[in-house]
This record gives sequence, C-alpha cells and structure tokens, in this order.
Amino acid sequence: MKKLMAANWKMYKTWDDARATAQSLADLTASKLPDDREVLIFPPFTALKGVSDVFGPLAGFSTGGQDFYTEAEGAFTGEISPAMLLDAGAAYGLTGHSERRHVLGEDDALVGRKTAYGLVSGLKVILCVGEKIDERRAGQVEAVLRRQLDVGLKDVPRDVNPADLSVAYEPVWAIGTGEVAGPGEIVEAHACIRKILQAEFGEKGNKIRILYGGSVKPANCAEIIALDNVDGVLVGGASLLSESFSQIVLA
Ligand code: PEP
Repeated sequence: MKKLMAANWKMYKTWDDARATAQSLADLTASKLPDDREVLIFPPFTALKGVSDVFGPLAGFSTGGQDFYTEAEGAFTGEISPAMLLDAGAAYGLTGHSERRHVLGEDDALVGRKTAYGLVSGLKVILCVGEKIDERRAGQVEAVLRRQLDVGLKDVPRDVNPADLSVAYEPVWAIGTGEVAGPGEIVEAHACIRKILQAEFGEKGNKIRILYGGSVKPANCAEIIALDNVDGVLVGGASLLSESFSQIVLA
C-alpha cells in the first residue's frame, strides 16, 4: 500500500500562485519520489485545472476537490459536482473535513451521502473523521469515530475498491493549532478506525488507507508516518509552501 502524502490548500492561492507552488513541488520531489509514496493536492476549485495540468505528466502526482455536491448537475448555486471535478483533472474528493463539519455545518448524514456519491461517480474519496477536544476529555474518542464512520460509510457499496477509499483521522483540536496528537493517541485512534473498517468491509478493510492530519510539519512527519496503521498524512498549513511540503513528502 503506497503512502499518500496529501495537501489541503483550503481557501488559499490564486491560479498563478497555485501553479507555481505545484511546479516547484514537482521540481523538488518528482525525481526522488520513492515508489511507495503518492502526492496529492487539494487546491481551491479555481486552481484545480491549473494544478492538474502541472501534475499531468508526472507519475504518482494527482489532485482532488476539497468538496462536492451529491448531484451531477442542476440548480444548486455555488455547488460543484464530482463530474466537474473529474473534468478539471481531479482524481480525488474530500468529505467530512472538520471545517466543513464545524464551520459550515455539515452533519454526518450529508457527509455520508457525499462519500457514497463521490465513489459511485468515479472519484477516489478521503473521508475525514475526528473528535473535538471536549469529546476527547470526556473519553468519547471511540464513540465519535464509530458514529462518524457508521454514518459516513453507510451507503458506500461493499464491493468498493479499497484503493478508492481512504479515511483521514484529524482530531479537530490538532488542526491548524500547532498541537500535534502524540504517537500513542494516533496509534490508538488509527487502530480503532482499522477495527471499524474490518468490521464493515472484512479483509478489504486492511487495504483502506488511514491518513493522519493535524499540525503535520517537516519536523514530525517521519515519526508519524512510521506509526502502525498510518498510511499517509493530510497536511494543511505546512503544505502551502513547496519547501516545507517537499520535506514532508520525502520524510
Ligand atoms: C487540515 O486542514 O486538514 C490540516 C490537517 O491542517 P493543519 O495541517 O494546518 O493542521
């Protein structure tokens, strides 16, 4: 299973800046990318085609959409469909990011519909899950992960190709705060997610990648990526500059 080194650029970067950063990242990493690593960038929608074109000729590099709606087309002002993401060169879609859940108000059920719809529409999907700090303090980590995964995966076809589905464990309290989860906390949460994936998908559950996200930096990536059941990382702040994200990709 290749490790997936993913960058979430959130609402940052214009077309020119995004393309320049993607080109610089490719220059810094493409010739050295180990066979067991893949690079993925989630640019803002307006730069998706530009970054996809930069990555087009490069093996192991792909792009994705940070969000999508559950219809192919229609009167849904402001929304974008999986078909449109694919048309812009994306291979992946992200669902359930904590900012979509907790800033923009998406609930588990909508996240679940998006996850299933993205997969049947031909995207590879990364479903994000993770507890808030008060939920961790209340000893509810496992219960939160179980609920988010039960609902988030409910309508995913059980014959899904495991290479098309990933789960990102992103404790909300570690996102953009500089406060990375400790190795013990990561291993425990990822083991819990693995157990749930095995229960849902049987043997196939071992082949679904589980990424860690939350204040990953060049200085802590090598340790995190080596932990049990960590099959990649999802990086926000430290992915915005090619110099720092290239160190993470090659860590
Ligand atoms: C994220 O946005 O998914 C994320 C993990 O952000 P950061 O790396 O900045 O914590």
